[in-house]
Amino acid sequence: MKDCLFCKIVNGEIPSNKAFEDQKLVVFHDISPVAPVHVLIVPKKHLKSLNEVGPEDADLIAHVFKVAAQVAAELGVSENGYRVVNNCGKDGGQTVDHLHFHLLGGRYLDWPPG
Ligand code: C5P
Repeated sequence: MKDCLFCKIVNGEIPSNKAFEDQKLVVFHDISPVAPVHVLIVPKKHLKSLNEVGPEDADLIAHVFKVAAQVAAELGVSENGYRVVNNCGKDGGQTVDHLHFHLLGGRYLDWPPG
């Protein structure tokens, strides 16, 4: 997508601090972290939000969570725990219209979120 910020990060047009990359995903450190560990897991495929995920994306979404656990281990938060969250739409707090999942850890995370 031409004017999509995360597509530009995915294709390297905009630099990011990457923690992981493979054929399906890029994981990079959030520019405004809200926890000691805060990375974004971003599918390379442009989907606007969770609302656009279809049955054809089942393998991709499974891969997101597999990589989340792997990256959490690599960043040292597996033992104490972490959170993987998707903000969907206006009320969900989504600000970038390219599907992504936040991986947060390194401190106690309150529940329910604000
Ligand atoms: O869930 P939401 O859409 O609000 O998440 C977008 C995230 O993208 C924010 O946490 C924001 O800090 C991050 N971001 C980034 N790099 C940018 C622009 C936004 O890491 N250049």
